[in-house]
Amino acid sequence: MTTTPVVVSTEMMESLRMNRRQFLHSAALGSLACLGAGRVAASIDSRELTAAIGDGSLSVLSDGHLQLPASFLHPQGIDDAELDDLLSRYQLTGAAYEPDCNISLWQQGDRIVLFDVGAGSQFMSTAGRLPMALEAAGIEPGSVTDVLLTHAHPDHLWGLLDDFDDLQFPNASVRIHRGELDYWLDGDTLGATPEARQSFVVGAQSRLGRASEQIATFEWGEEVLPGIEAIDTQGHTPGHTSFALHHGGDSVLIVGDALNNVALSFEYPTLPSPADQDPALAGRTRTSLLDRMATDQMRLIGFHLPTPGFGRVQRNPAGAYRFVAEEAQ
Ligand SMILES: [Zn+2]
Repeated sequence: MTTTPVVVSTEMMESLRMNRRQFLHSAALGSLACLGAGRVAASIDSRELTAAIGDGSLSVLSDGHLQLPASFLHPQGIDDAELDDLLSRYQLTGAAYEPDCNISLWQQGDRIVLFDVGAGSQFMSTAGRLPMALEAAGIEPGSVTDVLLTHAHPDHLWGLLDDFDDLQFPNASVRIHRGELDYWLDGDTLGATPEARQSFVVGAQSRLGRASEQIATFEWGEEVLPGIEAIDTQGHTPGHTSFALHHGGDSVLIVGDALNNVALSFEYPTLPSPADQDPALAGRTRTSLLDRMATDQMRLIGFHLPTPGFGRVQRNPAGAYRFVAEEAQ
């Protein structure tokens, strides 16, 4: 008996890939519609917020949310009763901690800029919704001109590749702080990382490697794009960066994970967080950032603050701070 080998041409492979892509997109849009006014999309075009800043517009799209152990809400150095009071005031008393993931999108003229790219499909099933949110907002991935990364943790970086490990934003220039890139690509980083987080290193290396031709670095203090300045907010990771957007007399700080918990980061900024790679440094960074934000009354967008994560910092009479959410104008 003879068998005929099955020959799959390149064209057939590409067609299969395209069909699967279309299927995934329709399925994704279907599930987005089913969610209605749920956590993922509250408005018709999936933008959680849109604010006019100068002659551009700043929006927030949801990448979904994370599911983390409640231990993220139980730092050392705080009295049990005080912590219980804090967490109940912010309704953070469940068995899990589920912070939102807010992607900022800046559109000005022909420029379409994403601040971080979400988790992609291989990190957590509750995150990685950015491609659907972009599609519902009418933005083609190929039209994104720039990606500015706050840092290279999975929920911010892994969305750089699609389900097929192809570039999700093939025409974008991707910028990351030089020290952040060096840290993740350093051959010694994997061995120096606790086992529970080694997948972060392997995942960062594969994505940064795959996208290497798109990637360029910046230094803190640099104007990375017109009206967008890179601000040193290290501690969460070695090269963690926030981005100050200044246009037409308006300013907004995209803080990334420098202020990542709506209760603890503001009310107890110096308490160590298991989310931070250098907890002491992250605490000092938060303290000076909060002082500056409260003094300047500059608005901010926090990646993990309750969606859309837009608001200001206010001083509390007790001496710490609180986050005051704002609607866009
Ligand atoms: Zn994060």
